[in-house]
Amino acid sequence: MYDKRYTPRIVVDIGGRPAGEIARLAELMRDARSVVALTGAGISVPSGIPDFRTPGTGLWEKVDPMEVAHIDAFRRDPVRFWSFYGQRFATLEDKEPNGAHRALAAMEQRGLLDAVITQNVDMLHRRAGTHELVEVHGSIASCSCQSCRAIVALEEVGSRLERAADGVPRCAECAQPLKPDVVLFGEMLDEHTLERARELCRRADVLLCIGSSLEVHPVAGLPLITHAAGGELAILTQGPTPLDELAGVRLHGDVVTELDALLGALEADERRTAASGSAQAGI
Ligand code: ZN
Repeated sequence: MYDKRYTPRIVVDIGGRPAGEIARLAELMRDARSVVALTGAGISVPSGIPDFRTPGTGLWEKVDPMEVAHIDAFRRDPVRFWSFYGQRFATLEDKEPNGAHRALAAMEQRGLLDAVITQNVDMLHRRAGTHELVEVHGSIASCSCQSCRAIVALEEVGSRLERAADGVPRCAECAQPLKPDVVLFGEMLDEHTLERARELCRRADVLLCIGSSLEVHPVAGLPLITHAAGGELAILTQGPTPLDELAGVRLHGDVVTELDALLGALEADERRTAASGSAQAGI
């Protein structure tokens, strides 16, 4: 449901400039000292990873994620927990980054984006090449032993999972069940990671909020930090968010299409700047 007050601005395309909100966002980013992206499940949907908050999708169809992916479920019944989470690992393992992940990595490489803060645990930003990455909900990259704190990388977890008679990957030292290094329901977010995210948002002149419904705290509070510090919010999601009214730029389209268009607009700006620079230099 779109906000009725939202009326896309139609800008006549003069001199190859992309029209409307994308052009405005590119301009904001060009003038900003610091741009940060905050991403949620929506950015990974084009990679074939359903958002579990959308009912009736894939793995989450028959189970309540709040129940099976809860820290109490892990502690109480690791066999049952891993019978579910093993499938989750398997479905995430073969997924590839999409154009939206790649566009953000390209922006960082060009010095147009300082960091990506993500709610996703799927490793797709890393695999797309993003370096400054804050994974506030952890990631499936590793599991750890809750007893001796040993850390086991994803690939090794996979082979222990396959070998385990009861389907539970265990610590090689103390035989305790390994826990995925993701924030399960009922667990607190890592305070150090969250503080890093807050600091990036405090410094950001522009915060790109992409594919997140901005409803789950404490992550939903991050854009408010940017806004309170005088930064601009650009929100790119298909559904409404509680922060739409605060957004300087609001995009409703497909994440891959919109970020491709944004990258294109930024690159066109760079080419124009380079061209006018060399004209002034007389070369
Ligand atoms: Zn251990």
